[in-house]
Amino acid sequence: MFKNIPFQRVEWITSGFLIGTLFLALTAVPAYLLLGGITGGFMWALFFFYLFATGISITLGYHRLFSHLAFQAKWPVKAFVTFFGAAAWENSIINWSSDHRNHHKYVDHEDDDPYSITRGFWWAHMGWLMFKLKPEPPIDNVKDLEKDPLVAWQHKYIHWIALFMGFVLPALLCGLYYGSWQAALGGFLIVGVLRTVIVQHATFCINSACHYFGSQPYSSKHSSRDSWVMALLTFGEGYHNYHHEFQHDYRNGVKPWQFDPTKWTIWTLSKIGMTSNLRRVSDAKILLAELSEARQRIDQGLEYCRSEQFTEAARLRLQASIDALHRAQEDLATRYYQVQKTVTDRVELSKARVNVWRRDIEDALSHLDEILRFDLVPRAV
Ligand SMILES: [Zn+2]
Ligand SMILES: [Zn+2]
Repeated sequence: MFKNIPFQRVEWITSGFLIGTLFLALTAVPAYLLLGGITGGFMWALFFFYLFATGISITLGYHRLFSHLAFQAKWPVKAFVTFFGAAAWENSIINWSSDHRNHHKYVDHEDDDPYSITRGFWWAHMGWLMFKLKPEPPIDNVKDLEKDPLVAWQHKYIHWIALFMGFVLPALLCGLYYGSWQAALGGFLIVGVLRTVIVQHATFCINSACHYFGSQPYSSKHSSRDSWVMALLTFGEGYHNYHHEFQHDYRNGVKPWQFDPTKWTIWTLSKIGMTSNLRRVSDAKILLAELSEARQRIDQGLEYCRSEQFTEAARLRLQASIDALHRAQEDLATRYYQVQKTVTDRVELSKARVNVWRRDIEDALSHLDEILRFDLVPRAV
């Protein structure tokens, strides 16, 4: 993917920062620890606080609050994410949100989606930051954010704020606490550099891995995917297929068992009046998307099974599953239109009813998986 990229298209400062911090995290940090550099409870507590504070500032602040306006927040929340978000070294709220709104608007369009997965995994991960293939598009999709004085101020001084909050303050705090220059170096390397690298690559994974690995329960019209593994690494942003389908919902992990600490934090803050107007997509609308996607997958699965050459024994075993699938499909179709009518009539769905439909989707999809597993049966020559 890096072939044929003209030399002058390299973003030297950004590339130098990304490679330099990664290099330090892999060499200087282990060297500091192995050579017995000063560490201790305070430094590690600060490391984990910073990891959480800067990570959640990106997911809760830059992403769900500013890019998607998924809820409203009082000034202390905004101030927190403005300062600690800067310390993640992911540029200003204005730049980040502008790129991200374009990503949603033009997802998978090679030219207009800034980190389009169609240019490959590494391009979506960090290549898009290291090389500029064409002039930067104008920042014209964040007028609402530019009106916010705090956000505008952060944009103006972003590199100074990032330098102070991201590197100088951790070094200063560790140096003062332990009363030593060596501890200041430790604070810079561990709380500053190592933490920055971890948070940045977690964010990058949302653009790369979350458009590459995982399932598509809500839509296969775009490349985004749901992955619980990625959710664990990204404060809950791994449910990216749901997020692309319903981008204004303050939740990414919408099921009760899904790991989404960003959602939990927003909800908890709403209970003490720090956030409000949390936007949620109705259960019925979510279910409709799931039903429609399940039906499409079943149709494609059936088509695939019919076109393959199976042995007679496999064919007989297959028939039973296909019959079961047909029944499930018909049942799904009937219920699908019932749901549609119910939604049109704006009647709230009962939890019990929704649960029955959810079970139908799961049953139908497990039938489909059963059929597709026959692909492993030796075929007639
Ligand atoms: Zn995406
Ligand atoms: Zn988004």
